Amino acid sequence: MEGLNIALKEAVVKGVFQGISIPNSDIKVSHLFYADDALFIDEWSSQNIKKLARILKCFQVSFSLRVNFNKSKVFGIGVNSQDVENGALPLGCEPSALPFTYLGIPVGMNMNSKSSWNPILEKLINKLSRWKAKTLSFGGRVTLAKAILGNLSTFYLSLFTAPSGVIEAIEKIRRNFIWEGPENESKIKWVAWDRIIAPKEVGGLGLGSIKALNLALLAKWKWRIVNEYDSLWVKIIKGLHSLDMIQPSQISSRYLSEVWRNIDKCKNALGKFSIADTKVIRWKQVDTGWDSNFVFDGKFRFVALRGKIERVGHWIPDGAFMWCNWIPFKVSCFVWRARLDRIPSMNALITQGVQIQTLNCNACISDTEFTDHMLITCPFADTIWNRVWNWCGIMSHQLTNIKEILNFAADCGHPPRKEENNECSHFWCIMGYLESKK
Ligand SMILES: [Zn+2]
Repeated sequence: MEGLNIALKEAVVKGVFQGISIPNSDIKVSHLFYADDALFIDEWSSQNIKKLARILKCFQVSFSLRVNFNKSKVFGIGVNSQDVENGALPLGCEPSALPFTYLGIPVGMNMNSKSSWNPILEKLINKLSRWKAKTLSFGGRVTLAKAILGNLSTFYLSLFTAPSGVIEAIEKIRRNFIWEGPENESKIKWVAWDRIIAPKEVGGLGLGSIKALNLALLAKWKWRIVNEYDSLWVKIIKGLHSLDMIQPSQISSRYLSEVWRNIDKCKNALGKFSIADTKVIRWKQVDTGWDSNFVFDGKFRFVALRGKIERVGHWIPDGAFMWCNWIPFKVSCFVWRARLDRIPSMNALITQGVQIQTLNCNACISDTEFTDHMLITCPFADTIWNRVWNWCGIMSHQLTNIKEILNFAADCGHPPRKEENNECSHFWCIMGYLESKK
């Protein structure tokens, strides 16, 4: 590809191939390469197409590399379809038209329309399918829902503002996947979605909201455009929108084109989360340049901005949950739910309207099965706890509910390391055992 790059540059210098001029700059764009993908750009004329065909044939002969014209396409912007068909003949490519997808990104598509997001929604449904949900624990489903979104965001959410209908649709797919347990498990949504997506430091499960992810990814471009001023993409965006000609404060969204207008408008959306535009990016002074509340070690951390957006409107009603990294995530998730009293005890099932024969605990058959009974005060659980205390070599503790146990574990020292043989690690082991029995 480097050889082709040099050949194209030489052709532009000699005037054989022109490329297109970017307004308000001295930049000419004739070709763009990414890995083994190539995009050639020039004014539409049959002469220019023939010249490009000759350049590519010379490249084939010189480097003994064959250009796969069958996989290549010709597009004409503002050109009628018959002319595009005629123009494709000398190259042996297929004629095509907008919109199209380039490197996974839709080009020329109205992204404010929900239907433009259908490919992403379909991919998400396939990745988060029902049969996968059946084979995973609750914690596994949360992990997968988080990981899949990470890949998805690379393409669409980092460049386009997702319409509210799309955000709702994605959240619904994730919600259904997370609560879609094995066949014999009811489809009760045990914890409010707001709590599932809330950050861990405010008592949530930390899945993260699509809205915050989308906004933080878009806001990052505002930092990049002033700091990567030497990059080709920055020069093109500034040239196309005359951004160097006016003060940033005077930029009006209506003068910007689709993609960059949406990025510029994210400041309004951030304002709704009480995050001023000047916190995302602000001019300090000539010798120190641009600054931001979300820049650490010279890099813009979109994760920090996302976390800030996520925390708005959330609170810690009963303290944050103590997460331990070395414990299997599914065990931590079970304890997190138990602490919120959101696990399927007999009493909770009745409350959710599930028809069951008895409220009594399955283990002792005498008392009503509440969460605290099932895990702490049931004679069966009590026997296990006493063994744990003996095993740890500490005095027996008369604890009555899950919160007391967690407070006790926190007093034992946190965060514990896997190799530590203390009562706290044993506590988590017993929790893991109880989770597996559930
Ligand atoms: Zn019992």
